[in-house]
Amino acid sequence: MADEKKDFKQKVGTWMSGRNGRDELTVFVLSIALILILVNVFVRTFILSIISLFLMAYVCWRMLSRNVEEREVENSVFLDFVSPIVPWFRHPAAAAKEVRNYKHLSCPECGQRVRVPRKKGKIRITCPKCQAKFEAKS
Ligand SMILES: [Zn+2]
Repeated sequence: MADEKKDFKQKVGTWMSGRNGRDELTVFVLSIALILILVNVFVRTFILSIISLFLMAYVCWRMLSRNVEEREVENSVFLDFVSPIVPWFRHPAAAAKEVRNYKHLSCPECGQRVRVPRKKGKIRITCPKCQAKFEAKS
């Protein structure tokens, strides 16, 4: 019995190797789909069933996709997009304080995000990534 279980795990492992599997974007889309399905239990609209079905199909397709590189690019675009929003969900008070006290700038040379204290007037910033120097109002 235990051997059979191990065998099955191995088979799934072989089948999943080289495929994208689970990443943040997949989990996010899956949660949206599950919320829509739950909402649809009460409202029962055709359009919601179609949307949740479509999202579930997208989740399966992403997990089974063999084009792992392209899926990773999509996932990192997604993470870049949500990273400024995430702190507002985790610690709203800390996020508000952060915005009051610090300003986030992007390096004009390489796009690296740099955090600087606010209300210091015009300041000179050295990019931690490419060492480029630029000025900004804080
Ligand atoms: Zn830079």
